[in-house]
Amino acid sequence: IGEKLYLGMDFGTSGARYAIIDKQGIIHSEGKREYPLFMNGDAVDWVRSWKTTLFSLLEDIPITMRSLITSISIDGTSATTLIIDSKTGEALARPLLYNESCPDALPIVKSIAPSNHTVCSGSSTLCKLVSWWSSSDSSKESAVLMHQADWLLWLLHGKIGVSDYNNALKVGYDPELEAYPPWLKSQPYSYILPTIQAPGTTISTLKKDIRAKLGFPEDCVVCTGTTDSIAAFLAARATQPGKAVTSLGSTLAIKLLSTTRIEDARFGVYSHRLDDKWLVGGASNTGGAVLRQLFSDEQLENLSKQIDPMEPSSLDYYPLPAEGERFPVADPKFVPRLGPRPESDVAYLHGILESIARIEAKGYALLKDLGATEVEEVFTAGGGSKNDKWTKIRERVLGLPVSQALQTEAAYGAALLALRGSQ
Ligand code: ADP
Repeated sequence: IGEKLYLGMDFGTSGARYAIIDKQGIIHSEGKREYPLFMNGDAVDWVRSWKTTLFSLLEDIPITMRSLITSISIDGTSATTLIIDSKTGEALARPLLYNESCPDALPIVKSIAPSNHTVCSGSSTLCKLVSWWSSSDSSKESAVLMHQADWLLWLLHGKIGVSDYNNALKVGYDPELEAYPPWLKSQPYSYILPTIQAPGTTISTLKKDIRAKLGFPEDCVVCTGTTDSIAAFLAARATQPGKAVTSLGSTLAIKLLSTTRIEDARFGVYSHRLDDKWLVGGASNTGGAVLRQLFSDEQLENLSKQIDPMEPSSLDYYPLPAEGERFPVADPKFVPRLGPRPESDVAYLHGILESIARIEAKGYALLKDLGATEVEEVFTAGGGSKNDKWTKIRERVLGLPVSQALQTEAAYGAALLALRGSQ
């Protein structure tokens, strides 16, 4: 008999991945699939596309490894919503994607929810539910709401209507009360809401037909998941309060583990629960997208080599790809500042990287001002994390140890949830 293995799957915005780990967290296999494009009339048939991808990934797993998989978990894009008929398992409407907005429902949601609640955004799961509730004439009595991850997990375990408190935050679940709040429970559609477990909780065993057909073991269990960005945070294994992950992709996003829960709608700051701690964060519009407007990735690499990261740059910019900033400055009319441009491209890039580092530092300082645990150490993910000179600049500006996260794939974070759920 081989060692027990744990399977995580990530259903992201452009495709899906899997990662298989052992209990030490060592990766035994990884794979990915793009979503196949199926059409249903004029619309993409996401139900078919995701389902096909799920089973393709399961079949991609080396057959000898499948019989060792003890536990499975999945993360999906936050606020991607399905309404399913619990009797037939069919979707009662097309899935509404994470970034789709339901402006029709926003005034209704604003009239029932506390002001500035996370559900008060047109793309929240609750707005999607309310929009469906008020416009659909399909039969509603056996309807159940599922997030993308819940629905994919359900295909594997068969118990309808189970979700986790990370995915459910944007439908209005209160992870501190461990309940839907009274203003939500009193709505006529509240019976449609799923039951909630902590992420990485065993739901049930893998369905018998799937297990038999694909060669998974009899006791393989399926566990609740999380959202894709939380799974990516989990991957970095920043498990102590004060540990943080900065994601330097097209934008700059920071996430910090805190013992306190903080919220501030002005800055788009809110907290996700992670066991007895809170994952707090914010996202600035600055980041790699601006760098890409000015330099190719090759230029970035070559120019960076010539930067002396110990030498402070005197250039003070606020790089943004367009007007408007949300965090750590909340101003939709905020004007980017990318000049004056010095003659030397090395000096220019140095000034920009250092300016972005100052925005990062301001972000962490704002989280502290709002009441979060003070940051102690920063792990980095995304395209900018491989730039060692930038890491050194950030260490100097932040006054903290900064390093590249060892793991950044959300699928790895989902596999950690599977491991947790099996214990
Ligand atoms: P996303 O997934 O958000 O689009 P990635 O994590 O793939 O972004 O990172 C891409 C970004 O990384 C680009 O915007 C690019 O400007 C930036 N980038 C690439 N190479 C470097 C580098 N050597 N130094 C700094 N930034 C870089």
